[in-house]
Amino acid sequence: MLKHLNTILFFLIAITALVIFQKTFKGYNHKDMKEQNYNQLTSEEKYILIDKGTEQPFTGKYNKHDEAGFYSCKQCNSLLYTSDSKFSSGCGWPSFDDEIPGKVRKETDSDGRRTEILCQTCGGHLGHVFVGEGFTPKNTRHCVNSLSLQFIKKENLETAIFASGCFWGTEYWLKKGKGVISTSVGYTGGQTVKPTYDEVCTGQTGHAEAVKVVFDRSKTTFEDLAKLYFETHDPTHVNRQGPDVGTQYRSEVFYTTPQQKEVTEKLIKTLEEQGLKVATQITEEAVFYDGEEYHQDYYNKTKNSPYCHIYKKKF
Ligand SMILES: [Zn+2]
Repeated sequence: MLKHLNTILFFLIAITALVIFQKTFKGYNHKDMKEQNYNQLTSEEKYILIDKGTEQPFTGKYNKHDEAGFYSCKQCNSLLYTSDSKFSSGCGWPSFDDEIPGKVRKETDSDGRRTEILCQTCGGHLGHVFVGEGFTPKNTRHCVNSLSLQFIKKENLETAIFASGCFWGTEYWLKKGKGVISTSVGYTGGQTVKPTYDEVCTGQTGHAEAVKVVFDRSKTTFEDLAKLYFETHDPTHVNRQGPDVGTQYRSEVFYTTPQQKEVTEKLIKTLEEQGLKVATQITEEAVFYDGEEYHQDYYNKTKNSPYCHIYKKKF
């Protein structure tokens, strides 16, 4: 009897562990995508990105499109390809001989023969990749559905860098901003070259935990993102945000253009007129060191929400 009890106990533990594992590592399903504020898709786009369909050849709007710029995921806005890698293959679909590093995932297709390509960020279906056809020196053709893509003109891309305490929370909110193409957490404003998280935690590197935001100027403005930044942390705190204390948790805008500096000054003035004693520093951008992978997109990965960044309307 004891032996049977042990067996039953073993299976109960195994099943519980499996359920917990699946809940934690289930990956992004479509419901998660909606929760992450992804773009609303048309039924045609859903057919491609979610149901892994294929558009008719020679029908897509980017098949014959050669403007300079970037192609991003229609669902999550993540940058996937540059126009430099685009070439004319005559196959009827947009063709690229390389992806932006780390942005495209490759898997064996359900047909067991071809290699499917998916957006690394949201898992949306893009098309297939073929090698050995000899079109370009890279000998690779990413055959992508136009409906999986959106084009961004080179001159419409802009970068902004914000620090407001723990970078997990700063990124959580800025990622939700309309027109945001990518976010990455990292360290900037200090003197240590290629700092690690542990080094930054000592407060001796001079760096702030910060978030680099790349956005599409045709869809949003720096001002809108800066408002979101000020409304999701307490800019009156000096070298502190919530329970996190230290110079690495200071409030600081690292402007990348003179216009960003002007806009930030204007917004701080507005907050000061509301009686707030704003501690946010305004500094020209410096080298931005990407943070460790496990810090990137932390709250989406862990399905949690920030403990010290709460939205409060101020403008
Ligand atoms: Zn995507």
